[in-house]
Amino acid sequence: MSTFTVLNPATEQTVATVPSASAEETDAAIARAVAARTGWREVAPGERAALLRAFADAVDAHIEELAGLEVACSGHPVGQARWEAGNVRDVLRYYSAAPERLCGRQIPVPGGVDVTFKEPVGIVGLIVPWNFPMPILGWGLGPALAAGNPVIAKPAERTPLTAVRIAELAREAGLPDGVFQVVAGKGSVAGQRLVDHEAVRKIVFTGSTEVGRQIMAGCARQVKRLTLELGGKSANIVFADADLQRAAASAPQAVFDNAGQDCCARSRILVQRSVFDRFMAMLEPAVKRVAVGDPASPVTEMGPLISAEHRERVASFVPADAPVAFRGHAPDGPGYWFAPTVLAPVRPDDPAYTEEVFGPVVAVVPFEDEADAVAIANDTPYGLSGSIWTENLGRALRVARAVETGNLSVNSHASVRYWTPFGGFKQSGLGRELGPDALDAFTEAKNVFIATEE
Ligand code: NDP
Repeated sequence: MSTFTVLNPATEQTVATVPSASAEETDAAIARAVAARTGWREVAPGERAALLRAFADAVDAHIEELAGLEVACSGHPVGQARWEAGNVRDVLRYYSAAPERLCGRQIPVPGGVDVTFKEPVGIVGLIVPWNFPMPILGWGLGPALAAGNPVIAKPAERTPLTAVRIAELAREAGLPDGVFQVVAGKGSVAGQRLVDHEAVRKIVFTGSTEVGRQIMAGCARQVKRLTLELGGKSANIVFADADLQRAAASAPQAVFDNAGQDCCARSRILVQRSVFDRFMAMLEPAVKRVAVGDPASPVTEMGPLISAEHRERVASFVPADAPVAFRGHAPDGPGYWFAPTVLAPVRPDDPAYTEEVFGPVVAVVPFEDEADAVAIANDTPYGLSGSIWTENLGRALRVARAVETGNLSVNSHASVRYWTPFGGFKQSGLGRELGPDALDAFTEAKNVFIATEE
């Protein structure tokens, strides 16, 4: 039996050794989901809603345990990890209202009536990355289950423990056998099997754009439904008329949250040239104040990177001659630490400016005017997130409409919220998760014509 070792990224100590699911074991999970499929879609809507609420309550009762696992497995600061477990609970509660509201339509047609039904799409494979193991699992799981689909989740190799525990909680809450399973295995084995197996009718993938492309090609062979949440290189745009103090104080959170391992990281700060130096003077103390250290401490704001390999990759964006304007702090000793790093001025072809770093590195660049800001923000193959700082409401709306990206905040660093649709433009993805319409991605519309003429 092959296994993989889960390391604590803050200590480099072994947390657990987990059996790695083979292709055959993944097939067996798929067979259990096939067996559960009809029973789950036939559960009465009110009962399915009650089961989702019971599942949410079970998660709620285990927030501390789940947060503790994520602190150990992912190095997330404990306050963040509690929020992440709470997010799973909240998303399950939000979508527990959906089964009883899964309404179709009645469409006027000649010779009869036409009614539509939202049918469950079938078995859903969720392929989850290591950066936010719990929330990203929940965003697919809640609406997929609410729509009447069995779900098989494949967590990332480095961070499987919370998903495994959440699946146990689902069973304890009364979800029937085979309705929600976790296969902890390699992406190239278990993940690939979910993509290749004909009984899996929908894949939800979050991860790198490169693997997303391969998964899209795999799904194309079977015309399999697919949602992709991929990379980002988002802009935080600060106009001269903004409240600069607030913009500078929140910029570190917008990029260094989760040690920058966030597809929504605003890793390019665009600042109007007339206030560039003032902004940099305000940004420096804010970056130096970021509390980096022991993830188990309640005052910690930023933990380590996920692995030694990933730290090496992040470090490659900051070579010895990199234009480092200033840096924050990071502990010495064991752990995959990387201090928050601000680069300026950067060349337009600097990989730190053009590529997704997925670490605590931000490039600050000046712009001249509104048109220039929009052009720079859009000069990337990605389009996932973004923030705009200005006191001019008209400008805020004009720029928000002009920036080619899926999720924007004005005078705030807010990112993903479960009440609103989340997803990317361009190479940042395909389809939307969350929000009131999320069940559309997990159902097929069926129309039935009923003749009324004799
Ligand atoms: P990947 O895209 O390789 O992994 C994401 C998930 O996909 C994991 O569960 C992985 O499993 C699985 N997977 C990998 N290969 C396949 C496959 N062929 N078929 C099915 N599933 C597969 O991300 P990495 O972990 O390698 O991270 C690399 C970079 O990707 C990061 O540095 C970052 O730039 C970006 N990234 C972006 C994320 C986002 O939120 N947009 C999230 C994570 C990464 P396994 O863990 O077993 O390999």
